[in-house]
Amino acid sequence: MDRSRHIIVLLGPPGSGKGTHSAFLREHLGIPSISTGEILRAEVQSRSVVGRRVEAAMRAGKLVSDHLVNRIVASRIGHREFRGGFLLDGYPRTADQAAFLDGHLTCMGMPAPLVLHLDCPDDVLVQRMTSRRSCGHCGRLYNLLFHPPARPGRCDHDDSPLLQRLDDSEAVIRTRLEAYQRVAEPLIAWYRPGNYHRLDASRGAAHLHARLRQILAPEAAVLASSELAVA
Ligand code: AMP
Repeated sequence: MDRSRHIIVLLGPPGSGKGTHSAFLREHLGIPSISTGEILRAEVQSRSVVGRRVEAAMRAGKLVSDHLVNRIVASRIGHREFRGGFLLDGYPRTADQAAFLDGHLTCMGMPAPLVLHLDCPDDVLVQRMTSRRSCGHCGRLYNLLFHPPARPGRCDHDDSPLLQRLDDSEAVIRTRLEAYQRVAEPLIAWYRPGNYHRLDASRGAAHLHARLRQILAPEAAVLASSELAVA
C-alpha cells in the first residue's frame, strides 16, 4: 500500500465551517478536494440527465441516493489528479456510503481515510447561520458575528440592502440540524474506532487550524518527502 497517499474525510453539520476548513486543509496538505455538493450542483445547472433526477431532492434539502453519489465519487477517485491523495467534503454522509468508500479504497490499494469531525453545539450553529447575510445585488457574503458590514444592513461594496437566505431562518435550520443528526450518528459510530479525530468547531479558526496542523503533522511530513522523492 502506498503510504504517501492521504485520504481525508471532513465531517460536520451545516454551519460548522467545513468550507473554510477544507480550503485550509487543501492548501496545508497540497491535495485536491472532492465536494459531492458542488458536483451535484454543477449537474443540476447543466440540465444533464443526472441533474434533472437529483434536482428535486437537492431543493428539498434531502439526500440524493447512496448509489448515485457512490458512483460519482468512485469515478472521480480514479482520475489522475487524485492519485496523490484527496480531501472528501460532504461525502460520505451515511454509514452505507462510508462502507462503500472503505471497500472501494481497499480495492484501489489506498489507505483508510483520516476522519476529521467538526463538532459543534446546535445553539452555536443556529446563531452562526441566522447571522448570515448576503448582498441582494452583488452577492457578497457577510456574517453579523464575524464579518459585519461597515454600515448596518448595507453592502460595503455597493450599499445595496443585505438579505437573509430563506433557509437560514431558525425553524428551517433546526429541521436541517435534526436531519443531519439522524444520519450522522451511525456514520460517526462507523468511523470512531478508526483514524478519527473530533474537533471543537465552536472555537475560533486560529485554534482549529493549530489543532489541524498538530493532527496532520505526520501526514504533511510524508507528503513533503514524497514530493522530494519525485522532484
Ligand atoms: P452540500 O453542498 O454538501 O451541503 O450538499 C448539497 C446537497 O447535495 C445536499 O443537501 C444533498 O441533497 C446533496 N448531497 C451532497 N452530498 C451528498 C451525499 N454524500 N449524499 C447524498 N446527497 C448529497
